[in-house]
Amino acid sequence: MEFIREYADWFYLIGAVLFILTLRGLSGPKTAIAGNRYGMIAMAIAVLTTFFVADNPVVWMILAAMAAGAVVGIARARTVPMTQMPETVALMHSLVGLAAVLIAIAAIIHNNKLIELGPDLLTANGITFHEMSRVHLFELFVGCFVGAITFTASVFAYGKLAAKKWAKTISGAWVKPVQALIFLAMLGFGIHFFLSGNMTSFWAMTGLALAFGWVWIAPVGGGDMPVVVSLLNSFSGWAAAGIGFTLENNMLIVAGSLVGSSGAILSYIMCKAMNRSIINVLFGGAMGGAAAPTAAAGAQVQRNYRSGSADDAGFLMSNADSVVIVPGYGMAQGRAQNAVKELANLLKEQGVTVRFAIHPVAGRMPGHMNVLLAEADVPYEDILEMDEINSDFPATDVVLVIGANDVVNPAAKDDPNSPIYGMPILEAHKARTIMVIKRSMATGYAGLDNDLFYNDKTMMIFGDAKKVVEDMTKAINGTGH
Ligand code: NDP
Repeated sequence: MEFIREYADWFYLIGAVLFILTLRGLSGPKTAIAGNRYGMIAMAIAVLTTFFVADNPVVWMILAAMAAGAVVGIARARTVPMTQMPETVALMHSLVGLAAVLIAIAAIIHNNKLIELGPDLLTANGITFHEMSRVHLFELFVGCFVGAITFTASVFAYGKLAAKKWAKTISGAWVKPVQALIFLAMLGFGIHFFLSGNMTSFWAMTGLALAFGWVWIAPVGGGDMPVVVSLLNSFSGWAAAGIGFTLENNMLIVAGSLVGSSGAILSYIMCKAMNRSIINVLFGGAMGGAAAPTAAAGAQVQRNYRSGSADDAGFLMSNADSVVIVPGYGMAQGRAQNAVKELANLLKEQGVTVRFAIHPVAGRMPGHMNVLLAEADVPYEDILEMDEINSDFPATDVVLVIGANDVVNPAAKDDPNSPIYGMPILEAHKARTIMVIKRSMATGYAGLDNDLFYNDKTMMIFGDAKKVVEDMTKAINGTGH
């Protein structure tokens, strides 16, 4: 094992390169599986190398922790349904944050213990000890508070996405001053710790950072949660990089920075897709909260809509030249992706041009729809992003919206008073005919009524996504076109 110790930096370098290839692979559906494999190999190299370079590791503790983590990880990976992926990701980020806090605490306690032993005893026992430098205190200060904020904020994001009762959105005039107060106090104690190494200040900073994570994310509304989750992903990366400095582990610094920067880039892309700035998302108040009154007002007005059967819809589609399918959260919820693929194939056999239109925040996590369609083996060239397909809607015969709502809500374009005004949408309302599969006239995630459903060109087909799509396929088969 001397070999691994001697060439540790080389192993870390190989790991770092593989992590970069991982990110590159994950940027496209065709290369994603290879990307995942690189990531697994890189992680194995990182863990094994670290195991062998550690000074006097408590082997049983490391193995026990790894075994416990592996059991929980495998069990969760096998059982988690696709629809619960976002909250699972949020929960995992919370663990990275917690690890950063615990390592910072351990590093400080360890250091203080060494100081207590006194220099003579240390030298007698062959332990070399350096007073913590300013740089070291700064790393601990930043790593710990970023970790603590990531921890509680991610726990809240988990609760919110899993619709737990304790994850209540908070609002009111008091929120911003309280946030500012906690933040400034946290910074004050942190700076004091940095300057003096005072432990009371360290504990106060950590406690306040934990509180800040919660009050910071709690006012953010439902519609903005995806950006928050991606931002917390970035935070967890920076916290890991911070720990990397504390532990003087280059691999962790590189991996943490990669996660940190890729998460930040994703947050930026998502904000652009929702036409919002990151500052507005984080400090602009609750989008979901603001949406509630509009939805309630909408519910009081009785509006007319047209509904039809799966048979009618199937007949219309099989006679169309072009069909664009817009999947949303309801397709995931109803596990309808395979049925949808069969319908698309059948229509293609009838000479219909069928394409899929994906909104960047359709579903409940970035890339949600892409993953489901890839799982159902829908060809990548049939799947188009919002910018690629939007100009084609006016010339499209039929748009089939399957369990999507907010991402096709025209209020985002037409109604300056709408909470989602300015968010780019798939312009399904411009097509010649629109068909919408959902179970009721209920609102989507942002809690808003949707004018598209009351459009003269729209036909609502009520029912569970999978059942309706299967019925459509049967109807087309039956008509024998
Ligand atoms: P929405 O949540 O707006 O709408 C989904 C619709 O699907 C609902 O109106 C529901 O209507 C219908 N539905 C649910 N289950 C079924 C089923 N089994 N069969 C048929 N229909 C069903 O989804 P969109 O994808 O349009 O929009 C995503 C929303 O989620 C956006 O507001 C986005 O900001 C938010 N979000 C996105 C995240 C991301 O990263 N992508 C993460 C978190 C939130 P009904 O009940 O009547 O059936």
